[in-house]
Amino acid sequence: MSDLSDLYQQVILDHNRRPRNRGKLPTATRVAHGDNPSCGDQCSVYLDLEGDRIKDLSFDGSGCAISQASASLMTTQLKGKTAAEAQKLYDEFHHIVTTGEAPEEISDIAAFAGVHAFPARIKCATLGWHAALNALKGDEAPATTESHTD
Ligand code: ZN
Repeated sequence: MSDLSDLYQQVILDHNRRPRNRGKLPTATRVAHGDNPSCGDQCSVYLDLEGDRIKDLSFDGSGCAISQASASLMTTQLKGKTAAEAQKLYDEFHHIVTTGEAPEEISDIAAFAGVHAFPARIKCATLGWHAALNALKGDEAPATTESHTD
């Protein structure tokens, strides 16, 4: 199990050092902000939705290593997913961070299983995901929906 813990720690460190999809997304059609005052974490999530599917997304924010690594990982997990698939992934992630029960197969989101031992940090780990789900549910489109090529 210690080998797995090391591996998981590597995932968190890696996302913290080299955040994926960080920064404002110019093509975003939805944005939502997450705030975790108990730790001082902030996270904004930008979504480029195509119908019900997340065509692209990014996050921006500041805070502790867990909050930022989790938001970074979240963007890699949700790209290309539908709203329903995103909700399902969040449910899995939430189960992992609250119970420490990781799935059989090693996946990056299982890296956060250790968070369950630190209940105060669960909010850090779920902050970016909450922001993403809020953005998915949002009816308003604060950002423009200008057409673009990619
Ligand atoms: Zn935090």
